Amino acid sequence: MFSLIKLPRVFSVHQVPRAFQEDSIISGYRHPRSSATDCVLSLFQLTNETLNVWTHFLPTWYFLWKLLTVVFMQDVWSDAYSWPLLVYLLSCCVYPLASSCAHTFSSMSMRARHVCFFFDYGALSLYSLGSAITYSAYVMPDAWVNGPFHTYYIPVAVFNTALCTTMACYSRFPEFQRPKLSKVLRVSAFTYPYLFDNIPLFYRIFLCVGEGCTVNEANSFHVYHTLLAFLTGFLFATHLPERLAPGRFDYIGHSHQLFHVCGIIGTHFQMQAIEVDMKRRRPWLLAHAPAITLGGAVGPAALSSLLSLGIIYVFSRPLFPGPAPRTELRKGSGRARRSCCH
Ligand SMILES: [Zn+2]
Repeated sequence: MFSLIKLPRVFSVHQVPRAFQEDSIISGYRHPRSSATDCVLSLFQLTNETLNVWTHFLPTWYFLWKLLTVVFMQDVWSDAYSWPLLVYLLSCCVYPLASSCAHTFSSMSMRARHVCFFFDYGALSLYSLGSAITYSAYVMPDAWVNGPFHTYYIPVAVFNTALCTTMACYSRFPEFQRPKLSKVLRVSAFTYPYLFDNIPLFYRIFLCVGEGCTVNEANSFHVYHTLLAFLTGFLFATHLPERLAPGRFDYIGHSHQLFHVCGIIGTHFQMQAIEVDMKRRRPWLLAHAPAITLGGAVGPAALSSLLSLGIIYVFSRPLFPGPAPRTELRKGSGRARRSCCH
């Protein structure tokens, strides 16, 4: 049965165009003009993208299960207090799903690669905003509830999603002419909103002393999440361990896979922390915090999604007017010669 299915062949770094090459990954590349079928089939063979897909595709189902559990086990529709949690859980499903789709279909063409990762960046921005919406509702320390930071927190977070989707999408264009600028822009696009969203949490668990600090069982989960978030950022920025031994981690253990895994485990701890805060602080927050409305919970996420889709459209548009750039393989690969692409 399996012998009837011909799995696509894989290539070395020198056989694919530069735009498809990954730092310190030597082998396991898919054809840069793969068909959609080949992309799907490649998930069942070992390439340097296989685990990038599965490390986000499987957790998507876990997060979806968490979302459905909340929707069907609790009276969420009439309980406005739980709406921010729903928005957050939805964003937790969207970002790994968008990422697994991006890694699956990114080898179809140069355009597909750009557009796939534009959506990946947009989904990460949405997740960042989903986190901010729940932090505003459940995690903000008592001392800051109703304060000026709390008032402007969500509007600034929405602005940040637009800014960071723009920065991340733009970072794909100077990848070869100005690689350092590209790297700085992309790393900043993910770290800046994370740092901003977590200001109330950092204050609460690292700086606050005395009354109003909101010390409860959620704090240890918040610390685990924070440590994993920093590890995630470190892996993304440094390309370790493959930088130390190029070629040794092509298929299993390279930084992008570890980045995915740490990100997912971090999200899991973040989810636990939010759920504990939500339950433990419910009476106090219902009495003292601003009332949660549908517009307040869903509105920023809807606005942010529209902004990100608009930004993705603006960056995708110039990729489509002319004929597709050719992304063929070099002579010697048995197919064609390298050309094009950047
Ligand atoms: Zn990824």
